[in-house]
Amino acid sequence: MTFPENGRSADEILSELDARSSQDVQWRDGKTAVYIFNAGEDISALKKQAYTAFIEENGLGPLAFPSLRQMEEDVIAMALDILHGGEGATGKMTSGGTDSITMAMKTARDYARAEKGVSGPLNIVLPYSAHLAFDKAAHLMDIEVRRIPVEEGAFTADVTAMADACDAHTIMVVGSAPNFPYGIIDPIEALSEMCEAKDLWLHVDACVGGFLAPFVRMNGAEIPPFDFEVPGVHSMSADLHKYGYCAKGASTVLFRSEALYQYMPFDFDNWSGTQMVTPTLAGTRPGGAISAAWAVMNHLGIAGYCEKQALVTKARAQIEAGLRQLGFEILGEPKLGLMAFHHPDFHAYALWGKMAEKGWFTSLTKDPPSLHLMLSPKHAEVANVYLADLEKSMTEITPDTEHVKARYS
Ligand SMILES: *Cc1c(COP(=O)(O)O)cnc(C)c1O
Repeated sequence: MTFPENGRSADEILSELDARSSQDVQWRDGKTAVYIFNAGEDISALKKQAYTAFIEENGLGPLAFPSLRQMEEDVIAMALDILHGGEGATGKMTSGGTDSITMAMKTARDYARAEKGVSGPLNIVLPYSAHLAFDKAAHLMDIEVRRIPVEEGAFTADVTAMADACDAHTIMVVGSAPNFPYGIIDPIEALSEMCEAKDLWLHVDACVGGFLAPFVRMNGAEIPPFDFEVPGVHSMSADLHKYGYCAKGASTVLFRSEALYQYMPFDFDNWSGTQMVTPTLAGTRPGGAISAAWAVMNHLGIAGYCEKQALVTKARAQIEAGLRQLGFEILGEPKLGLMAFHHPDFHAYALWGKMAEKGWFTSLTKDPPSLHLMLSPKHAEVANVYLADLEKSMTEITPDTEHVKARYS
């Protein structure tokens, strides 16, 4: 496209946007189980209105926009409230999980250098299943990534092997709550004990579970301690734009204390402009991401989240039961809204293709090759459709036992 000489009317532009979106996955029907968190039309409408109310305002300027400063403080306080942030716990909103993880790593690095005299090459130790955002941040900061294979069968962090991988140059140890590939929570208490014994910074990546697990627990499920309730947890990442059902561009990075957080903000003044103190890498920060998060959290409240998250776990339980009947094996014991599964006789990727033909857009897990679902409240309505389509897909591809066995062995 060339830059248009003359513009077009707003009406024409808006209808073209509409037309363009028709080529995308039709996620509103519930057949998308990745990228989108569908909590219903009412939540969608509220977040749009609340976002547009502050679409021009800038979170970079807390003095100019005390409204945004206060809303961000409220959002962080609410997050800490459900994640057992004790006295002195603090944090900031970021643009997403990758941003939160990057800032947590930067903070842990500066803390290690300043408080523990760590110097020279640095590393982080994490389970193989932890998110690739850690690799991005490590790449930026020239930090070595030590990924340790997960426990066979359980798909959880191997704490002993992780302990062996730590040394005097380790600035952070990571556990996920849950990890993305399997949807399983790592043994955070065991990681915490190991980190406390070695005086290491433990980060819990609750990007996808931070606003899901607390409510699933309130609904009665047994969720092991994974947040600041566990004493060795120094920092956490928890995304609002996932199971918080907030507008995209909203996450939280949280710290046990101000003494840890103090290493996060940037404070520079060596230029001809004025001094800049910014909590994250961003300069300009979208006001709408803050106001939309504040609005959705206050609209749903604990009761509203419990209701939405009950639909997520209901969908997961229904799909799990159906999958077992169809002969699938579920990887480990997922307790939240994500799961991965494979079939002894059918290759997962071939099934994925057949499901895609039926309008399903989902993720995959590579080790071992598996289908993957990240479920939303909406999926409680279509769980049976998914299972029926999967059963049909199994009749449309040739069982490929030898091939599959070879791949899994
Ligand atoms: C989504 C996710 C991230 C990254 O978050 P983005 O918002 O996509 O940058 C990190 N960790 C886990 C476990 C995630 O699921």
